[in-house]
Amino acid sequence: MLPFARLTIIGLGLIGSSVARGVRAQMPAVRITGHDADPAVRKRAVALGICDDVTDTSGAAVLDADLVILCVPVGAMGAVAAEFAADLPADAIVSDVGSCKQSVAEALSAVLPDAIIIPAHPVAGTEKSGPDAGFSTLFKGRWCILTPPENAPEVAIERLRIFWQQLGADVELMDARHHDMVLAVTSHLPHLIAYTIVGTADDLEGVTQSEVIKYSAGGFRDFTRIAASDPVMWRDVFLSNKDAVLEMLQRFSEDLSALQRAIRYGKGDELESLFARTRNIRRSIVEQGQDDDAPDFGRKH
Ligand code: NAP
Repeated sequence: MLPFARLTIIGLGLIGSSVARGVRAQMPAVRITGHDADPAVRKRAVALGICDDVTDTSGAAVLDADLVILCVPVGAMGAVAAEFAADLPADAIVSDVGSCKQSVAEALSAVLPDAIIIPAHPVAGTEKSGPDAGFSTLFKGRWCILTPPENAPEVAIERLRIFWQQLGADVELMDARHHDMVLAVTSHLPHLIAYTIVGTADDLEGVTQSEVIKYSAGGFRDFTRIAASDPVMWRDVFLSNKDAVLEMLQRFSEDLSALQRAIRYGKGDELESLFARTRNIRRSIVEQGQDDDAPDFGRKH
């Protein structure tokens, strides 16, 4: 059974185009209408054939939709929803894929006070952006977290759950505030650390840039993959999930200071016991199917 018949995707970058490709593959009878603010992206989406129709305005895109998914940077969600508010059918469900949920829920409900809004976050992605970067299996075996507000109709939540399940995702419901705290640790803080380390190396005097790149296989290059993520998307994530990120950053700074002390005073047992704990976390991630066990992230040698 198809949970929706007419899907509109606003924002046809990595995530939006992956949703479109996944729907084409798994729910081919669903009609897909797309819109993106960037005319070059719209043109590319037409050339790739990932939507049935690509419109020049977001209003035209939502006209008879039964599901609208916003796949734009989190800071743009409210403005995009305001653009199409007057054209949105009363019974359409509005959702999104934003990496933070509280700020997006507030932005959407402020401009769409009467709409059925069910925010969502597929915890899947890559460091690439744009319509060419998407692929139909991006969400397969990954989690998609729905953060419905208290008054959300059960039937709407169920339809969205089935939609994401058909794209291959495992679906979980969560409170938006809790989501933002969990993702601050599992996603936002790691990105901040990667941006910092790569920035620090770039600023170093005495180590030429070519040496940093030449010897990057010592660990640095794994951070550069994360630090290559889209600058606009991540600027918006940190500004939107400010409180949770600052709280996690505070805890991280304290733990870093403790490690600094352990190194300074030669407390090898403290270092070893932490490193043993963290190695077990890696094992659990592999055991739960959230990564595969290939050595060196599966790189060919
Ligand atoms: P992306 O590849 O940069 O795609 C975003 C697209 O939205 C771009 O084509 C952008 O056009 C367009 N856009 C920006 N403002 C718009 C507006 N006002 N109206 C219509 N289109 C607009 O980014 P993405 O990685 O797909 O991220 C999209 C969303 O998914 C974000 O909210 C992000 O937090 C979330 N997300 C990302 C990941 C990930 O790993 N990347 C994972 C999970 C969730 P321009 O060419 O003008 O920029």
